[in-house]
Order: sequence, then C-alpha cells, then structure tokens
Amino acid sequence: MSTYHYEYSLQTQKQHFHNITSFVEEALQKSGAENGICLVFCPHTTAAVTLNENADKDVVGDLCFALDQTFPDRKEFRHSEGNSAAHFKSSCIGPSLTLPFIGGKLKLGVWQAVYFCEFDGPRKRSVFVTIVT
Ligand code: ZN
Repeated sequence: MSTYHYEYSLQTQKQHFHNITSFVEEALQKSGAENGICLVFCPHTTAAVTLNENADKDVVGDLCFALDQTFPDRKEFRHSEGNSAAHFKSSCIGPSLTLPFIGGKLKLGVWQAVYFCEFDGPRKRSVFVTIVT
C-alpha cells in the first residue's frame, strides 16, 4: 500500500460552497497513482466537504439557504464564540469524503463536483487530500 498526502489552502467568503474538484484532480495527477481511493478531509469545525451538482450554481445556493433555515442562529445558544449554527452545519455535512479513482481519473458522477463548504468565513482554510493505492 502507498499513500500520498497533499494540503491545499483557500480563502473563503462568509458562507459559500467552493468547488475544489481541481485540487483533488491535481493531487491525483501529482501522485501518479492509477487505482485506489482518495480521502478529502476538512480539518475545521465550522466548515465541511461534500459532493453536489456542478452545473447549476443555484443548487449550492439553495443548499446554503436550506441550511440557514434548518440551523438558524438562536439566542439560547451558549457557545461563547457565537457561531453555533456554523458548528451544526459542519457536523451535518461532515468532515470527509472517500472517492474512488481508476486509471488516474476520479470516478465522479457526471454532475458531481467536490465542494469545500464554508459556514463561518471569511477565513483562510485548509483541505487535505490523501491518496491511497
Ligand atoms: Zn465556535
């Protein structure tokens, strides 16, 4: 078994889904790996990673809207930093993805893209890509 690890950074907006598919494809290309799995990991508690539609940008906008409706800020929250809603969104979406690749290419669905999800920006963030063959 071989592993390759890459770290990327990005500057985020307040709340936004950033398409980071190119980061993952670049890591895969650098590794030279042919077949295996790729772990995409978000090392933050108010951000996440997910797969979703790459064609209509309104889809990720609607996701942000729906998350705001599901996890509104509440005066009853006790977390002193004041960003509990962002923590809930992070846990709901999740910190990692496991993606297959074959022949050096990610096996994403036609309409899928990899998104870094910011819920408490703007911040400088990191995302890790680990390739396992
Ligand atoms: Zn916090």
